[in-house]
Amino acid sequence: MIYLDHNATTSLDPRAFEAMVPYLCERWGNPSSPYRFGNEARAAVERARERVAEVVGCKPAEIVFCSSGTESDNLALRGVAHAPRSRGNHIVTTAIEHHAVLNTCKALEKQGCRVTYLPVDRDGVVDMVALASSLAADTILITVMHANNETGGVQPVEEIAAIARTRGIPFHTDAVQSAGKLPQQLAGLGADLVSFSGHKLYGPKGSAALYVRHGTVIAPVITGGGHEHGLRAGTENVAGIVGFAEATALAFEGAEAEGRRLQALRDRLEGQVRSAIRKVKVNGARAPRVPNTSNLSFEGVDGESIVLGLDVRGICASTGSACATGDPEPSHVLLAMGLPAREAQGSIRFSLGRETREEDIDVTVRALVDTVAQLRRISSAPDEPGGHP
Ligand code: PLP
Repeated sequence: MIYLDHNATTSLDPRAFEAMVPYLCERWGNPSSPYRFGNEARAAVERARERVAEVVGCKPAEIVFCSSGTESDNLALRGVAHAPRSRGNHIVTTAIEHHAVLNTCKALEKQGCRVTYLPVDRDGVVDMVALASSLAADTILITVMHANNETGGVQPVEEIAAIARTRGIPFHTDAVQSAGKLPQQLAGLGADLVSFSGHKLYGPKGSAALYVRHGTVIAPVITGGGHEHGLRAGTENVAGIVGFAEATALAFEGAEAEGRRLQALRDRLEGQVRSAIRKVKVNGARAPRVPNTSNLSFEGVDGESIVLGLDVRGICASTGSACATGDPEPSHVLLAMGLPAREAQGSIRFSLGRETREEDIDVTVRALVDTVAQLRRISSAPDEPGGHP
């Protein structure tokens, strides 16, 4: 198998796994229990919090552990919307956010919030003029993702943070797809709230965090005991938190070198594809991107069919299409970037990671050449010139 879908999920780093094992098998106490067995678990959670805080560049008290990037996004958005001090109901976001943010915005609209969905340019970069002019006296939150999951496109979040700060508006960024891929400390982005998730950076599934800058007022979404500074009730996933901290530290430590390696592999992929297949487009290529992601559109072929064709050849990749209903819709991200629906439907995402080697790229390009040629023959669309790279 060649796995080129690291934006969907990653393998568990064996070092994170090793760190978790004792808390699954031996030290399985409840961190809230008052005796020594519970205290051991509590100490592990707090050590993990310190470790994550150091990587993020914040204080341990500013880290809230949660169960997923989705939950972290929900806590940020609903938390601000329902905060006691929120002085309005207007939220500003972009048209290209992950559904964890978009569908939460839609849910908040049903509860009376007004949401502005900012447009992006052809490369998926948010329109800063539209952002500045969208802000109003009743704006309670700006939420703009750091890196896009489909194209890898990176938004100017530091610039947005500066605007938000001047206007006194809380700013959330979904850094699920940038954390551990870009070396910069998350607190350094300048946002008040930052979401990131374990299983995207070689940590365990079911682990994530929300960075909440000191002084940012949010309401809890899950109520119960006073866990996680009263912001996320529920007995802590001790082993998951320990593994998350280990994986986060390791991912950020290696981000610079691994980023250079992955970018070279992605350039190899895009270079070979462009020279071997006609009528192909690299979506969002002129914008800054995280180094591991490539989103390609092939004219005249459907992305789903390419994914299936590659799967038969042992290669895992994905489309940008949301296919929850079995009826693939063109990607909302690519449509927002101005791609016509048929081009958006022909798109496929390769996301490289730690397992990816040069040979994997070469094998994938050969498989892609065959698959696209076959599909174009069937649909009698223009064929590629032939010949493998
Ligand atoms: N935000 C972005 C940008 C994502 O790519 C994802 C997952 O793909 C999420 C949020 C949700 O993260 P999780 O799978 O941890 O719920």
